[in-house]
Amino acid sequence: MSDNPAFVLRKIEDVAYEQRPIPEIKDDEVLVAVKKTGICGSDVHYLVAGRIGQFVVEKPMILGHESAGIVTKIGPKVRNLKVGDRVAMEPGATCRVCDDCKRGRYELCPEIIFAATPPYDGTLARYYPIPADLCYRLPDNLTLEDGAMMEPLSVAVHSVANIGQLRANQSVVVFGAGPVGLLCMAVARALGASRIVAVDIVPSRLEFARTYAATETYTPPKMEQGETRLAYSERNAKAMMQQLKIEERGPAGIDLVVDASGAEVSIQTGIHIAKHGGTFIQLGMGQAEVTIPVTTLLVKEINFKGSFRYGPGDYQLAIALVSQGKIDLKPLITHRFSFDQAIQAFQTTRAGKSEDGKPVIKAVISGPDVSPEDPL
Ligand SMILES: [Zn+2]
Ligand SMILES: [Zn+2]
Repeated sequence: MSDNPAFVLRKIEDVAYEQRPIPEIKDDEVLVAVKKTGICGSDVHYLVAGRIGQFVVEKPMILGHESAGIVTKIGPKVRNLKVGDRVAMEPGATCRVCDDCKRGRYELCPEIIFAATPPYDGTLARYYPIPADLCYRLPDNLTLEDGAMMEPLSVAVHSVANIGQLRANQSVVVFGAGPVGLLCMAVARALGASRIVAVDIVPSRLEFARTYAATETYTPPKMEQGETRLAYSERNAKAMMQQLKIEERGPAGIDLVVDASGAEVSIQTGIHIAKHGGTFIQLGMGQAEVTIPVTTLLVKEINFKGSFRYGPGDYQLAIALVSQGKIDLKPLITHRFSFDQAIQAFQTTRAGKSEDGKPVIKAVISGPDVSPEDPL
């Protein structure tokens, strides 16, 4: 155990295993032996495009940020953990002293050191150093595989419970039934939502959403030739409201819309679908700029909000909801790979399905010397 193999993105379309020194830890940090890591759309995006917005890969970077593992070493000031603890790792270390950190919105911290966001290394190595307070001990009824899923689940918890303030018996529409969209539906269900409508253009995704957490599904029609996106979205919203008996106001209205797709037509349709006084959350990252029906937004007094990563309390709530049996993460893990198969894991996630045709929801890479079949 003296070495530290890492899975490194050197430049676009160029990944390799490299030996890295075993990280030193600060007094308030722990060293975690990483055992399970989920692959995220953002990891794949850096591999393919080398950048997301202003974050550009300029030097080799270890990939991965959705991880769980076992504490192997603790700094002298650490009080909350001991060696051997099984933990989910929140992969964003913030400065703790800026205005945003101090007012409880640490996800906005300009100094955040986020795993696998350039220039910072990610977690796909044998070891990862992390502040102790960003490690959450897993209850005995959760596996380390569950622990790795706490990262995307916390994204969903942040948007639905924290930014969206969903309350019991409210209704939700989620655009995009990928992993994060599905987790938003699962959180909505766990919090007692009355209706959870899944919207996607891929039928197999909607079928899965229906068995997993959605109460209803909706497939948008095709765009007509010459139709503008705004006109299409208005038509789409009308059709959706008619088909699902959604009203503009009252108990049959939609309290919360979450866009987990990033698609312009979904954002436009979502603004039309939300009830008067309802809330719209932008969670999906897609086109950087879109056209929105702003007068509709104004007249309906829609609360239009962005949701980015996670903040105080999100990991705790995510772990609690799974531990209490209100959310089951296991059906979402469709593909498992050993550390040596990391390249295959990325290729499979990128393709959206494995060679046998099975669609990918979440692929998980095990740490070095860990069997992919053992959820730990
Ligand atoms: Zn992620
Ligand atoms: Zn800060």
